[in-house]
Amino acid sequence: MDERISKIKKLISISNQIVAFTGAGFSAESGISTFRGAGGLWSKYNPSIYADINYFIKDPSYYWNFFRDERYPVIKKAKPNDGHYALVELEKLGKIYRVITQNIDGLHQMAGSSEVIELHGNTRKIFCMNCDKTYSMDRVYNLLKKELPPRCSCGGILKPGTVLFGEPLPQVALDMANIAARNCDMFIVLGSSLVVYPAAALPEIAKNNRAKLIIVNIDPTPLDNIADIVINESVSKVLSELI
Ligand code: NAD
Repeated sequence: MDERISKIKKLISISNQIVAFTGAGFSAESGISTFRGAGGLWSKYNPSIYADINYFIKDPSYYWNFFRDERYPVIKKAKPNDGHYALVELEKLGKIYRVITQNIDGLHQMAGSSEVIELHGNTRKIFCMNCDKTYSMDRVYNLLKKELPPRCSCGGILKPGTVLFGEPLPQVALDMANIAARNCDMFIVLGSSLVVYPAAALPEIAKNNRAKLIIVNIDPTPLDNIADIVINESVSKVLSELI
């Protein structure tokens, strides 16, 4: 691994437009379970029931039970880890151009990253499907003690601000991410299985536009064969060596 770390250091020293692309593995060391990989949430919860827009419309109580018992307690106490702070350091050095994240936990912003593109929304933001009024996570958690599914003051059903399966990605975020992938000089994937599209197309776009592609993920990914450097290690271990 030492030789690959030295190569990445050299690449960082000559790059000024780095995109860090983070996935669930990046927040694993903040205590938030990934979906896939060892101990992933989908081994416990069926995504076509708990994270699918069509099922949510049919019966939102499954999602809100999951939110109350699993999501809220974990996200509420999660804090940014060394990896989040390492990206803030790189931003201060003028190296980071954008952080593109598939994570919905808001930890990059909490750590202090300023150029964050959230592709899959944010679980801390909840809104009414009828009138669009927004609610905080804490407020909805309290509402859940009284009724399931939680409702807006207008009577509408509340929906998480995350992108569920079957929903399109927020267009503005997707456009910004595509532009960043086309314009960066280095694209580093940190803790993503790279199987969720269209997000997983971004590394290829960057590579096709002559950026160096680095992948750091514990498990192999389908894009390892086009990457310049692959390290199958924990993100925090690699980032702490880099910083
Ligand atoms: P994923 O769950 O599909 O894959 C996570 C990957 O991270 C796995 O391949 C695993 O090997 C790797 N990994 C686990 N711990 C790691 C570590 N410490 N260092 C390096 N790699 C590690 O995650 P994904 O690719 O981001 O999938 C996308 C979906 O997961 C998104 O829709 C995202 O919204 C959602 N998600 C987000 C969170 C979060 O916000 N923290 C948590 C779970 C799932």
